Amino acid sequence: MATIAAERLSFTRLPHPAPANAEARAAVLANPGFGSHFTDHMIVIEWSEGRGWHDAVIAPRGPIALDPAAAVLHYAQEIFEGLKAYRQADGSIALFRPEANASRFNSSAQRLAMPELPEEIFVEAVKQLVAADQDWFPTVEGGSLYLRPFMIATEAFLGVRPAKEYKFIVIASPAGNYFKSGAPAVSIWVSQYTRAAPGGTGAAKCGGNYAASLVPTAEAFARGHDQVLFLDAAEHKWIEELGGMNLYFVFADGSLITPPLTGTILPGITRDSLMALARDEGLEVREERYSLDQWRADAQSGKLVECFACGTAAVVTPVGKVCDENNEFVIGSGGPGQLTGKLKARLVAIQRGEAPDPHGWVLKL
Ligand SMILES: *Cc1c(COP(=O)(O)O)cnc(C)c1O
Repeated sequence: MATIAAERLSFTRLPHPAPANAEARAAVLANPGFGSHFTDHMIVIEWSEGRGWHDAVIAPRGPIALDPAAAVLHYAQEIFEGLKAYRQADGSIALFRPEANASRFNSSAQRLAMPELPEEIFVEAVKQLVAADQDWFPTVEGGSLYLRPFMIATEAFLGVRPAKEYKFIVIASPAGNYFKSGAPAVSIWVSQYTRAAPGGTGAAKCGGNYAASLVPTAEAFARGHDQVLFLDAAEHKWIEELGGMNLYFVFADGSLITPPLTGTILPGITRDSLMALARDEGLEVREERYSLDQWRADAQSGKLVECFACGTAAVVTPVGKVCDENNEFVIGSGGPGQLTGKLKARLVAIQRGEAPDPHGWVLKL
């Protein structure tokens, strides 16, 4: 258990022998895509039993040396986070709810038997990296700097128990706008596979959950769909979430439903933010189980008019069509819904400093 306070952990900046030249960087920033280009630096903080967190550095980004017996390579002790920094309308830089990511990171750490990182160190590490790489903000409209904090077990030991050494690392990747003019509605495939079982790791943001989702996702793609939908593991009846996004259902009476956080669903920060924004609009939002059968019936009767998925990377993605082995149904007109677009615009405006921030979500650097 780490007890060290952020002010006692100072970050040492290591000199960079060869940062990207301005021309190469400009080419990336004009067309960043997602997840394939990286900034010049990374943050690394070490943890070992007895010492806690120590040796925080802002280092040139590059390969990390791992013993082939490192526990992460064998037993998958790994957790991660994803958040974005935005260039604000006034030219400053801001993070969106980084304390929420820090807090969720520690919940994930607990579930994977890893040491917790004090929230102020998590936030400070992210800020330090953004400051070091502030020349890496995309120049395309709607761009942002995607930050990926993660922790791995580095101890060389093949026995099965929590490791005694870890590295916390933060890397950054310039990200373009997922969809330039309004997200198109996606088609989703209802998988026979399950993502998370009661008592499992579904609520933790760990790489292992993603490894297990790759085959179902590939199956969805092979059948011509954009995303995979997971139902609950016990009854294979209740809607849980997409591969890496939470879901909302919008009804004709203006109310919304999202599946409750019962331990098998990842508690998305976008999910939480949209809930607050919808309630700000005076809309009723219920955290309530919703079945695939009910969904189909409501879509066909017109009771359900919109559905969208949400997460940091794509923000809000409308769902247009749902398919499984036996059935296929369309939501609303099959295109992006009105409330979906409105909530997305509200959230993006706050993230970019173009609208007031009534909930205190934006942290300026
Ligand atoms: C990260 C993630 C989400 C979305 O969380 P945000 O905090 O909104 O980005 C949803 N589902 C899964 C499985 C995730 O890993």
